[in-house]
Amino acid sequence: MLKDQDRIFTNLYGMHDRSLAGARKRGHWDGTAGFLAQGRDWLVEQVKASGLRGRGGAGFPTGLKWSFMPKQSDGRPCYLVINADESEPGTCKDREIMRHDPHTLIEGALIAAFAMGANAAYIYIRGEYIREREALQAAIDEAYDAGLIGKNACKSGYDFDLYLHHGAGAYICGEETALLESLEGKKGMPRMKPPFPAGSGLYGCPTTVNNVESIAVVPTILRRGASWFAGIGRPNNAGTKLFAISGHVNNPCVVEEAMSIPLRELLERHCGGVRGGWGNLKAVIPGGSSVPMLNAAQCDEALMDFDWLREQRSGLGTAAVIVMDQSTDIIKAIWRLSKFYKHESCGQCTPCREGTGWMMRIMDRLVRGEAEIEEIDMLMSVTKQVEGHTICALGDAAAWPIQGLIRQFRDEIEDRIKARKTGRTGAMAAE
Ligand code: SF4
Repeated sequence: MLKDQDRIFTNLYGMHDRSLAGARKRGHWDGTAGFLAQGRDWLVEQVKASGLRGRGGAGFPTGLKWSFMPKQSDGRPCYLVINADESEPGTCKDREIMRHDPHTLIEGALIAAFAMGANAAYIYIRGEYIREREALQAAIDEAYDAGLIGKNACKSGYDFDLYLHHGAGAYICGEETALLESLEGKKGMPRMKPPFPAGSGLYGCPTTVNNVESIAVVPTILRRGASWFAGIGRPNNAGTKLFAISGHVNNPCVVEEAMSIPLRELLERHCGGVRGGWGNLKAVIPGGSSVPMLNAAQCDEALMDFDWLREQRSGLGTAAVIVMDQSTDIIKAIWRLSKFYKHESCGQCTPCREGTGWMMRIMDRLVRGEAEIEEIDMLMSVTKQVEGHTICALGDAAAWPIQGLIRQFRDEIEDRIKARKTGRTGAMAAE
């Protein structure tokens, strides 16, 4: 369990003053110029040594990602882009940072941009986050007024500009290259890789795209030391992590906890447990809607980190934990996600554009039991043809929840088909 003194986000619930004065009282913006004075390489090494892995879903080592940026400029500017699109269903952690603790992000943006030789950073915030944008913009203005960013930021001799850009609500703009297209004023459609953003990103210039939380934790890592952060959680799964827990728990919440915390402890300590008790648990989606679910038996053992969940063929994703109790119509729950992914496909590549529609339509019929048993395998085969065959990860995101459903709850799907054929109404879909 994470100790109170180890929390990075000390105003996650908005109980304290979020202004610059309040942030300073809580220790933010302390010694920032000193960190910059240590130089780019030192900063990248510290972040590498901390073991920080990207908090946006993929879990790629943050320091390593930073090190891909060119050391010497070829004349093109470099950019840091912060992904605040946060549109993965179930995910609502970055909004708490932006509306209640925005200076953690702004200070982190300055440090990260400096470490990558970027004189400008863009925060791409999702369209629906209007109050969050206002809070963040107010904090950015305060930081400019106090000389913390802008010309000669923190009196370091380094010029740094921070822009806040408002998206228009498309899920796909959370994909890093679609985000860059959108930021450039084009339709949010993912780009083919390579080239990767570090070689050619925003406006064709070297760019790193990082999640809000990945950037916001950096100043505290530097202040407390990389080994402090690396010492929390299991090896290769370091640090503190924001978990956003929703669904059938008594108190849904966003909470900062140690990485690798057992799922059961997370739910019982912070959420008042599963509705109706642990025995009433049916399944958990541990990392936002795109990762395969865990069944109740797996949940007994589950550790909330990248490696444990990957070993179970699921994933930590954004650490948005969606809890479903025994009352859940699990087939319908996954059908709803299929509908979402079909709607959000940008339509650029055939397996995703057509496959998401096929998957949704088969799921439509499975919910009602209007299918043949053989179609379950057919659906699995469609997911395999989509998975890994698309330009961006939306194809995988659409395929994985269905694969998880078939792996974990095949009996329930078969039972519903048989019930339909025999007129047994007890196993039919909830309306
Ligand atoms: Fe667009 Fe889907 Fe292809 Fe991604 S996988 S580029 S969302 S069509």
